[in-house]
Amino acid sequence: MKVSKKWSSLFLASAIALSSISIAQPQVQAAEVKKPTNVIMLVMDGSSNNAVTLSRWYKGQSLAMDEILSGAVRTYSADSAITDSAPAATALATGHKSNDKFVGVLPAVINSPGLEPIAKEDAYRPVANVLEGAKQQGKATGLISTSEIQHATPAGFSAHVKNRSQYDDIAEQQVYQNIDVVLGGGLESLAPGTTKNARKDGEHLVDVLKEKNYDIVKTRDELFKSKSSKIWGSFAPSDLAYDLDRATTRASEPTLAEMTNKAINTLKKDEDGFFLFVEGSKVDWAAHANDTVGIISDILSFDAAVKEAVDFAKKDGNTMVIAVTDHGNSGITMGNVNTTSTYSYTPVSAYIDPLKKAKMTIEGALSQLKEDKSNIVEVAALYGLDNLSENELATLKSTKDLGKEMVKMLANRANIGYTTGGHTGEDVFLYSFGPSKITGLVENTDLAHTMAKFMGFDLNKLSDDLYIPATKAFTEKGYTSKIDLSDKENPKFIAQKKNVTITIPVNKNTVLYEQDKTAKTHTFDTINVYNGTDFYVSKKVLKLLK
Ligand SMILES: [Zn+2]
Repeated sequence: MKVSKKWSSLFLASAIALSSISIAQPQVQAAEVKKPTNVIMLVMDGSSNNAVTLSRWYKGQSLAMDEILSGAVRTYSADSAITDSAPAATALATGHKSNDKFVGVLPAVINSPGLEPIAKEDAYRPVANVLEGAKQQGKATGLISTSEIQHATPAGFSAHVKNRSQYDDIAEQQVYQNIDVVLGGGLESLAPGTTKNARKDGEHLVDVLKEKNYDIVKTRDELFKSKSSKIWGSFAPSDLAYDLDRATTRASEPTLAEMTNKAINTLKKDEDGFFLFVEGSKVDWAAHANDTVGIISDILSFDAAVKEAVDFAKKDGNTMVIAVTDHGNSGITMGNVNTTSTYSYTPVSAYIDPLKKAKMTIEGALSQLKEDKSNIVEVAALYGLDNLSENELATLKSTKDLGKEMVKMLANRANIGYTTGGHTGEDVFLYSFGPSKITGLVENTDLAHTMAKFMGFDLNKLSDDLYIPATKAFTEKGYTSKIDLSDKENPKFIAQKKNVTITIPVNKNTVLYEQDKTAKTHTFDTINVYNGTDFYVSKKVLKLLK
């Protein structure tokens, strides 16, 4: 800015006068202009610490995660020592412990020791997450998973529902959240249809994405070609293939590292910085099935995505990277009943060599099975079960659950132990890198607050701005209101005062304002949420009320 001669002498005089009363001078230090903050949050779902150790031995060299190991995380939920993925994601994204199957809403029951009780009126209340906070900061946002994108963990970072199975609501909220880059599975939940997760509310969300100028891509090649800043990648009707199987079963799908790389290179163009969430979802599925090969396959593909994030953060210098599992799963151990008396002299190869024989995960191998099971020996070999003994072959031929028998057989050959087909309650490894790195033993909820602080906002304040109980707020402004459930798949909040009628559709970012004969649809960067009891809207929506 060029200041004129007359002004400069005046400025000088006042500057001298001012200095005597020592008011802080604005420090304009060009060199120090802080780059915008970025956060990359990566979750490998259901990956026990032992599974990480086993994956490193299988890889035969150190993991990208090893370099950034910084602490441990407590994962219990508000009503369970062992958490479900939905409350775990809610804790990691909103900073609140919650209940089984709850996504982005407060708990109704708190019985885990050390937690504050919750007020009755706060039960099921939607609370803001770090992705929404980043968006309110003007940052670009991204969401990636190898499961359907509506699954519990990505939903925890993008939606608010009482039950993780509400795919219709989760999908709709995700579409109206205006997230810049969304990559994963779950195409079937974007349109009506006959499959399990097809929409029941008659909405065609793919058309909505087109109206919102998303570049919709369905293959790896289309993803690479996209030059858009708004990309919606739906690469499968529901989940993507395991990393090890992809080349054989679904070669048109991108890897997790490729999706992460593309998202970073797209989002980094935003001058306000970005928030990116990445999930390696299917480690959890393999762990539930006690499929050692699937666990290793997708922990290593997750680790490759972590490398993409850390490499970027090293260059950028103002990016926080967090990598963590949301909970343990399966009780996997290196060592089992076979090694009870031999563990002290059983070499690494005795665990790894049998696993290296597998060319596919159990899901991949079974996908190759002929209806008449005539190729059962080849399928077993695909899963690493070669040279079957007569007993083993007889067992596989007679069993009703071939997959279960095969995973048990390979785990036995590889001296791998399992205690359960469910989640487990141990503290898990924490990996973090960059400014404000997190160290030591923390609660899963602490990670959310740390990310928010680094991006410059407070999650609790944000919840008060984004999710206000509508009935009370409208009543205080003299409106009468009701929740219209005539179309149960599309609830609406309708408020009236004199000649004004306001209609708020569920899950969308719009509000219809009618006065006399005029009608106007207002669009916001916040979504309307209905939790079965009340609607919740943002302060921005309430600004419409006169
Ligand atoms: Zn999980």
